Amino acid sequence: MPYKSLEDRRQNARKQNARARAEYGCSWSTLWRRKHPGRDAEYKRRDFQKHKAERQETNKLRLRVLRLLVISFYGGECECCGEREVRFLSFDHKDNSGAEHRRNKMTYWSYHKWLLAERRSNMRLLCYNCNCSRGFFGKCPHED
Ligand SMILES: [Zn+2]
Ligand SMILES: [Zn+2]
Repeated sequence: MPYKSLEDRRQNARKQNARARAEYGCSWSTLWRRKHPGRDAEYKRRDFQKHKAERQETNKLRLRVLRLLVISFYGGECECCGEREVRFLSFDHKDNSGAEHRRNKMTYWSYHKWLLAERRSNMRLLCYNCNCSRGFFGKCPHED
């Protein structure tokens, strides 16, 4: 049905809504949802898919920010050699409790939240070189 104006259209919608309420005791949108079970969920799902890439991008950003926060919280540099490049830095379990941590199945996110909750005395920042050297040789060549 063509409408003469926007106001006309609005008025018509109001009338239809009033009729629906009088007849079925609910609005048109509720009626529509009842008439098409599952369609609402379908639309939501489509929306969810549509914004997937966007959401992933946001999540990635959130992770990066959290990691930067945690790294600066722990001094922002390798405790052994002073490396400051964040991409080289990692967290070292001073008491070798890393295996226990992995058993707890912490996610990347919850792990960093845990690190940020308080300054963990058994954790320290090391660059990958110094961290791995400790794993391989028991100590870092820097200490020689
Ligand atoms: Zn280092
Ligand atoms: Zn070192």
